[in-house]
Amino acid sequence: MLIFDAHLDLAMNALEWNRDLTTSVQTIRKREEGMTDKPDRGKNTVSLQALRKGKVGICVATQIARYSKIGNSLPGWNSPQQARAQTQGQLAWYKEMEAIGEMTQITNLAQLDDHLALWKGDTGKKRPIGYILSLEGADSIVSMEHLQTSYEHGLRAIGPAHYGPGTYAYGTNSSGGIGNKGKELLREIERLNLILDATHLCDESFWETMDVYNGPVWASHNNCRTLVNHNRQFSDEQIKELIGRSAVIGMALDAWMMVPDWVRGQSTPEEMGVSLQTMADHIDHICQLSGNSHHAGIGTDLDGGFGKEQCPADIDTIADLQTVPTLLATRGYSREDIENIMHKNFLRFLHRTWKTT
Ligand SMILES: [Zn+2]
Repeated sequence: MLIFDAHLDLAMNALEWNRDLTTSVQTIRKREEGMTDKPDRGKNTVSLQALRKGKVGICVATQIARYSKIGNSLPGWNSPQQARAQTQGQLAWYKEMEAIGEMTQITNLAQLDDHLALWKGDTGKKRPIGYILSLEGADSIVSMEHLQTSYEHGLRAIGPAHYGPGTYAYGTNSSGGIGNKGKELLREIERLNLILDATHLCDESFWETMDVYNGPVWASHNNCRTLVNHNRQFSDEQIKELIGRSAVIGMALDAWMMVPDWVRGQSTPEEMGVSLQTMADHIDHICQLSGNSHHAGIGTDLDGGFGKEQCPADIDTIADLQTVPTLLATRGYSREDIENIMHKNFLRFLHRTWKTT
């Protein structure tokens, strides 16, 4: 079954982790043997090859770079211009992947339909992974002219915040409103018909955003606070607000967001009982809140700075997502519900959003 993954940091992995994603997951692991600079060295689960194997034929792929102001202890660039340049390097990598047929950028309805036709059935041929370009955290948007330029480069979704305080909104583990800069950004997002990614907005910024923003909104990788009580997850009230706006919420596979009491660097997926069934619990919670299967999707984040040490125990590579349809079927989900969750919800969202442009 075709899978739509609404959140992967592919270019970040290529450029900051120095991973050649055109090779297999195993090859990447081998090259990282003995490396200790990052916790997920030698434990990665994502490559373009693995995506193809798992029929993850379409994804939302990010550009990501933080501007760390003086006093902000989070890693990042010391000026918005440096952050901007970093995202442009990431875009250059996506373009290189397009040039060799590994990926293809999707920015409109015609391209989306062509790509889905290409992924119909099993042709035995190597097919490019379709990607919708997104920006995670908007600090690198130096000015609204930069946002316009990004749109022209294919940007179609944007999350104002990431972790901590940002230029346009406050993110995970911080608190504060969106201010005038945030409101100006939201107006531009709406004017350009970009998709607003509500993921990572802290509660205050989330609700202020909902007050002023009327354009399309989704949450690319976000789990349920009722199941894991931390500000990174959405409360039921936030999920209901998103459902009311026809949003789709992608379920993230970062273990600490899936089960309570995860301790980074100590807990293991096995001992904590984190599996794809745990993801199904979050999916189920969204479906129960909405009373249907129209608002849950997949947004794995499987290459978001963690690997096998911090993802479901039954994931070796992202290709293992192909076990999810059967798992949902055994939990009583119909074929139609499963297709909605695996790809149709996000595809319908894009159809709706792009029909007007
Ligand atoms: Zn994220």
